[in-house]
Amino acid sequence: MSISSAAARQHLRPEELKVGGGQNAAQEAQLQYKGAQVLRVEAVTEFQKDVIKKMQDEQVLDTWLNPAAGRTHVDIMVPATALDQVKAELQNVSATFRVMIADVEAAIKDENPALSESELEELEGRKGHRMTFQNYHRVSDIHGYLDYLAQTFPDLVSVQTIGSSIEGRPLKMIKITGAKAGPKPAFYIDGGIHAREWISPASVSYIIQELVENREKYAFADSIDFYIVPVVNPDGYEYTHNGMRLWRKNRKDAQKGRCAGTDLNRNFGYKWGGAGSSRDPCQEIYAGSGPFSEPETQAIRNFVSSLGTRVRGYVTFHSYGQYILYPWGYDKKVPPDYTDLDRIGKMAAKKMREVGGASYTVGNSASLLYAASGGADDWAKGGPRVKYTYTIELRDRGRFGFLLPANYIVPTGKEAFAAIQTISEEIAATG
Ligand SMILES: [Zn+2]
Repeated sequence: MSISSAAARQHLRPEELKVGGGQNAAQEAQLQYKGAQVLRVEAVTEFQKDVIKKMQDEQVLDTWLNPAAGRTHVDIMVPATALDQVKAELQNVSATFRVMIADVEAAIKDENPALSESELEELEGRKGHRMTFQNYHRVSDIHGYLDYLAQTFPDLVSVQTIGSSIEGRPLKMIKITGAKAGPKPAFYIDGGIHAREWISPASVSYIIQELVENREKYAFADSIDFYIVPVVNPDGYEYTHNGMRLWRKNRKDAQKGRCAGTDLNRNFGYKWGGAGSSRDPCQEIYAGSGPFSEPETQAIRNFVSSLGTRVRGYVTFHSYGQYILYPWGYDKKVPPDYTDLDRIGKMAAKKMREVGGASYTVGNSASLLYAASGGADDWAKGGPRVKYTYTIELRDRGRFGFLLPANYIVPTGKEAFAAIQTISEEIAATG
């Protein structure tokens, strides 16, 4: 049965509608989610997995959660027009499935009861910024919060722009300085590499709040300089607010209308272009035209490299699945010091569960999940050789997936902070 019908294809490429731009185009793009479903498929055999991969390659469906070593299920989003065909194809290979999200459009409407402009203005008048942890915010609100902190805590905080996105948005970084005199270890943290993973920038913003506004609670913060980029992919993130909610990549070649975007977490220059990445710009895991071909990854490379050997921690936040992952991602191999990474990862998971309630699984990236070359964590470990390098996949485990309602920001933010605290305390103790 051929399921790669033109109609099904078009439904996963609504960016074609963006040619010419405008409000109507954005509204039409959102409409593509009407009646779309997220299915959890029990894909046990390689044959079943291959059938799903083929449909992904043909862009009939969008894989949300890949097959992994520790579980047998795969989460896929299927547009309304392809549902019958995909379900029939799954039944053909005796793959069972259940519906996780019955209507993606309805889930999008429910996840983020957005604040009105007047509510945001009221907040700004009262607090000096527009940030909350009850809502997902636009890039301007998040960046505005960083600027507010720099103005309010000038001895502790500074903000700098480490580069520009492909559409010219600033890549803002907040530096939170340790109070102790002399050179200190550095800890680099970021979020929002993948545009649709909204819980990531929200949780990283929560970490910033704790480190600055609740600083007196955390002695470890005196011994470390933190460098934090809450939104690595601001173009993609904005597009998930005003275009396609489930966009993943950056916005490279967006004006071309189709097959836009590079997967920034396949674009880092360590073992670039290997397993788990694609040379096809139409794919969600497109690695780019070469290592560090994108301004967003270049900015991170240049900045982190400029810190030299001071960098002892590197954590990049994603969603979903609840994993604490350490290198390598390009192959099922571990770095020589992986026992340290595993031990601290397990301590972090324990603390995360205590503060937020969710269970996180700890392990080597490629072994626990699947190979993915060109990731930020592999570069951090293989390039500047950062000791404590992790990718953390935040909540949830699939009930809401990428459409995690905003009332989960605080518990997830607490978990993210607990991980940073655990790793920081180790760095502070070992120098
Ligand atoms: Zn991600």
